[in-house]
Amino acid sequence: NGILHPETQLPEDDRDVSLRPKSLSEFLGQKAMKENLSVFISAAKNRSESLDHLFLIGPPGLGKTTLAQVVANELGADFKVTSAPALDKPKDLAGILTTVTEKTVFFIDEIHRLKPTIEEMLYIAMEDYELDWIIGQGPSARTIRIPIPPFTLVGATTKAGNVSSPLVSRFGISCRFSFYEPEDMEAIVRRSAGILKVTVDNDAAALLASSARGTPRVVNRLLRRMRDFAEVFGSGHITKKVVAEGLERLEIDALGLEKHDREILRIIIERYNGGPVGAETLAISVGEAVETLEDYYEPYLIQAGLIQRTPRGRVVTALAYDHLKLAKGRNENS
Ligand code: ADP
Repeated sequence: NGILHPETQLPEDDRDVSLRPKSLSEFLGQKAMKENLSVFISAAKNRSESLDHLFLIGPPGLGKTTLAQVVANELGADFKVTSAPALDKPKDLAGILTTVTEKTVFFIDEIHRLKPTIEEMLYIAMEDYELDWIIGQGPSARTIRIPIPPFTLVGATTKAGNVSSPLVSRFGISCRFSFYEPEDMEAIVRRSAGILKVTVDNDAAALLASSARGTPRVVNRLLRRMRDFAEVFGSGHITKKVVAEGLERLEIDALGLEKHDREILRIIIERYNGGPVGAETLAISVGEAVETLEDYYEPYLIQAGLIQRTPRGRVVTALAYDHLKLAKGRNENS
């Protein structure tokens, strides 16, 4: 995985928790979604009720975890966080549900990966604020229902299509994240630079912003790398030249693609004559898990207009040929 890959965990991501927005006003971009949320939060607060369960959909690194934390802060509620793969046994979920207090915001990442038994437990918790618990074994086993305080579940997923409809229907609010607009990305660069105490020229910020695939986590990582380059090769100040040279060193092109993104396009063009090629076949060819291909690489390549999803598979566009400066093959309808 490249350094831009949002699923790559870098230790510095944890160290720089300071970059995480803490309030809705610090949470930049996603304007329409934020405005609605702010209304729902105020209304819940005015009624002294917990906020409706919240469903967050979008590619990695766009701010789902951050937003969940922001919602908890805005509600003045405590925040608990886990991810579906960590909820292996019923007791893992029960362990958390028995510690929620009124209005707790409980965040479950990758909610499309819940096991069916855990999902059933969650339905009851979300709907009736109760926990079904079996005590004892064999013939003497019995189920007790433990009441839990009204809490807010925030479920996040990169794949809304893989979440079962009974679960989806239990969320009162859903928010779909889009890739950030260039001006929002620039605002994020300026905010992060301020926190990291590094100075960035305006044209340098614009170039960084447009090379970070519309993803805040990616732009923060790039900013740290540019700070390294600026400190080692220059005065520490980030100029456009520092960014241009830095991006070249990292092999990130004008569209924000890394080497591996270009590799994917090249494979579709060279091995599959531009497509269509099915996701499974493509994933094997490029040496990625289908999930990684679909969750991380494809959304941005589609957004950038380089590939299209068709019923018969993935097809590269004319723009992809131009971008890679390859002659177009026989496949004229791509
Ligand atoms: P996700 O949960 O969707 O994978 P995160 O919430 O972990 O994404 O966000 C990744 C990082 O990007 C955060 O640590 C934060 O620094 C930054 N970030 C995300 N959204 C925003 C935003 N709206 N404004 C500013 N920074 C953001």
